[in-house]
Amino acid sequence: MMNPLLSQEQIALWHELTGAARNIVITAHRGPDGDAIGSTTALASWLQRHTKADVRIVVPNIFPDFLKWMPGAADILVYEHHEDEVRPVVEQADLIIMCDHGELRRMWTLGDVVREHPTPRIMLDHHLDPEHDIAQLVISHPELSSTCEVLMRVLLESGEKNGSEPVFTTSEATSIYAGMMTDTGAFTYASNRPEIFELISILLRCGIDKDRIYRNIFFTYSPNRLKFQGYMLYAKLDIWKKAHVAIMTLTNAERRRFGILNGDTEGLVNMPLQVLGMKLSIFLREDTEHPCIRVSLRSVDDFPANEMAAAFFGGGGHKNAAGGEIWGTMDEAVEIAKKAVQKYMPLLKDNG
Ligand code: 5GP
Ligand code: MN
Repeated sequence: MMNPLLSQEQIALWHELTGAARNIVITAHRGPDGDAIGSTTALASWLQRHTKADVRIVVPNIFPDFLKWMPGAADILVYEHHEDEVRPVVEQADLIIMCDHGELRRMWTLGDVVREHPTPRIMLDHHLDPEHDIAQLVISHPELSSTCEVLMRVLLESGEKNGSEPVFTTSEATSIYAGMMTDTGAFTYASNRPEIFELISILLRCGIDKDRIYRNIFFTYSPNRLKFQGYMLYAKLDIWKKAHVAIMTLTNAERRRFGILNGDTEGLVNMPLQVLGMKLSIFLREDTEHPCIRVSLRSVDDFPANEMAAAFFGGGGHKNAAGGEIWGTMDEAVEIAKKAVQKYMPLLKDNG
């Protein structure tokens, strides 16, 4: 089977921290995605079954409707716009487990609340360059597909061995699978390691319906959303041929025109990579809550989207899926995108 992820010291510390806690708060990054919701809900359920602690999930802001079906999602506390109710929950915690983010600033103002609350923390993550000194136990594995994969391996290695009995409830397994699936584009990137399929076979034995999970996540369009996608591809897709780059922009006026909801833009950034030869897709969209432009980058093969995101868009991420933001106008964001593409032209143009 697989090489262990954790050292004996890490397993001991995991048991020590989770065993001693009475009030555990699990956090995720701003703009929670399938991996964030999957890892937090699976972990909350597991800890409720295996520890004496009261376990709460707190996320910085709302998450998309297509994740609301996930088991346990209804109990998630949202900090933004509920600061006064949710802050005390964080301040009561005697253990904070950060899922799917390696930096407190990825939680914006909730990150400040967590930073100022002096309590032990555990980090479960797969992003590059984690802040090592913010957690007593850092389990950070950028080489893994998803935080759900990290979590599953942590729970398998630290949990009691039950022979052939399923170790996860079907709900927990469903959350974990959903996170792995969404962070790999349904296993079309970042998923070549054989271990991930060994883990999936365990999840299937726990009773998940993977076909249904796929439909629950991806086949949930409203008619408006499908029409909106058609509009974006027909009217807003710009291809910079020489660079093999596709770029799309979206304003809040367009969101209103098509009546699209939070989450309806999900996945759009991947579509231009269906064009033969494309190496990079850039999606710039006005944030719905703040005066900034959200940036999503998707690339193929070795193009380092995360380096471009860090160098030009104040962000980061993974090699093939990264993001950031620009505090400026859409025109400024497009100019920055042009500069970024210019800088990376040697990698993008033919034979690059
Ligand atoms: P998305 O395009 O789906 O918003 O983000 C794709 C990936 O990029 C995320 O999984 C995350 O790893 C990374 N990412 C997105 N936005 C940011 C950001 O503002 N900062 C950092 N460090 N990473 C980001
Ligand atoms: Mn993730």
